Amino acid sequence: MDFDTIAAISTPSGEGAIAIVRLSGDAAIEIADKVFRAPGNKILSTVPTHTIHYGHLIDPSTGHNAEEVMVSIMKGPKTFTREDVVEINCHGGMTAVNRVLQIVLNEGARLAEPGEFTKRAFLNGRIDLSQAEAVMDLIRAKTDKAMNVALNQVEGRLSKLIQTLRQEILETLAHVEVNIDYPEYDDVEEMAHDVLLEKSRFVQIEIEKLLKTAEQGKVLREGLSTVIIGRPNVGKSSLLNALVQENKAIVTDIPGTTRDIIEEYVNVRGVPLKLVDTAGIRETEDIVEQIGVERSRQVLAKADLILFMLNYSDELTAEDEALFEVINTMNAIVIVNKTDLPPKLNMNRVKELAEHKKILTTSLLAEQGIDALEEAIAALFFSGTVGAQDMTYVSNSRHIALLKQAHSSITDAINGAESDVPIDIIQIDLTRTWELLGEIIGESVQDGLINQLFSQFCLGK
Ligand code: GDP
Ligand code: ZN
Repeated sequence: MDFDTIAAISTPSGEGAIAIVRLSGDAAIEIADKVFRAPGNKILSTVPTHTIHYGHLIDPSTGHNAEEVMVSIMKGPKTFTREDVVEINCHGGMTAVNRVLQIVLNEGARLAEPGEFTKRAFLNGRIDLSQAEAVMDLIRAKTDKAMNVALNQVEGRLSKLIQTLRQEILETLAHVEVNIDYPEYDDVEEMAHDVLLEKSRFVQIEIEKLLKTAEQGKVLREGLSTVIIGRPNVGKSSLLNALVQENKAIVTDIPGTTRDIIEEYVNVRGVPLKLVDTAGIRETEDIVEQIGVERSRQVLAKADLILFMLNYSDELTAEDEALFEVINTMNAIVIVNKTDLPPKLNMNRVKELAEHKKILTTSLLAEQGIDALEEAIAALFFSGTVGAQDMTYVSNSRHIALLKQAHSSITDAINGAESDVPIDIIQIDLTRTWELLGEIIGESVQDGLINQLFSQFCLGK
């Protein structure tokens, strides 16, 4: 089939993210050649397929280097769309990636519609309709989610919520003020106390909810941190390579540095993964034996997802059992590899140990089971992190830091109120919370503002 060449940003992006602009179509490589400059005048149309190249994109309007990039060249039909695919990986946020997109659009690519890469994969016979639909759903979910995070911020969802919380605190402070001004009224004090606790707890809970979204916002930007573990020789490196080959690496190590790959960024069905082969901690492959279950847990705790590999053609060892114990509290998929070899693994025991975790079988040698694994990873990601559609995310580290401080002050206020601390001390904590939340939305504290606002409240209200 004959299609024009499409381009789109294929990763969600934010500050510090690594972003990809993907092109697909007959002219993909030609377009990339027009704007790509690399040492030795490398011509992309002459390089071997499925290779990655370091260089710069030229901004044709100035003739100067616009962005430092890594360009992956993948010639059809062994690509996701079966067409020639070029992926331009650039560092940095929306500005950089948008510039890259703009450059390739200027050179003749057309902006892809949502899901159009998948549509092509389907039309070119790479995937069937149900797969296409599944992928489309994921892409839509993903795109919407990434978009929503951006849009929510633009539209001031977060600001609105923060303003509501500040309003609650102001009202509470008004009651407190009344109480300080009219200490002779006992019932006023009683009421102030109740209102204070009620409203402060509300604010506390809302801040906690917001802080919970921070992790998800981070995952959207940086990728799901995924660690492959298992005994030596089960196939960890093979799995890493398979995932990287199928999905091409988003980033490889910088040319010239030692080739000790610890991490690879790949895009699996729209899910950005930061893959870590425990090659990076090779000395500790018998990690549990060396450092014990608790320590191993701590080492792996930063991972969002564990891919735990077992050898189908080998008996379970004590090390395997220990690893099951390590991951039992974690997000993990159990992969039984080497199914092409004679079975020796006690699968019933594996099921017992895996409890509710998903168990998949693969033969990386025969290239079997990788699709199902990718599906499972995508499913896990979306079930785990897709919250309510209208969720407000916090993804800015300054906001997160301020929210944490605000949480701590509001907690102080609540604890104070519960243990009958003098109300003017509680007032300080409340005011501090109000100020910290204000910093998130850029409202500086003005002297007298609180008093001025208080004038809007009357006694007893
Ligand atoms: P690691 O030590 O866990 O990283 O394991 P590797 O990925 O280095 O693989 C160890 C050996 O097992 C290599 O020789 C691989 O080619 C081989 N291997 C990996 N997957 C399979 C498989 O599914 N079947 C068979 N028969 N061999 C495999
Ligand atoms: Zn390895």
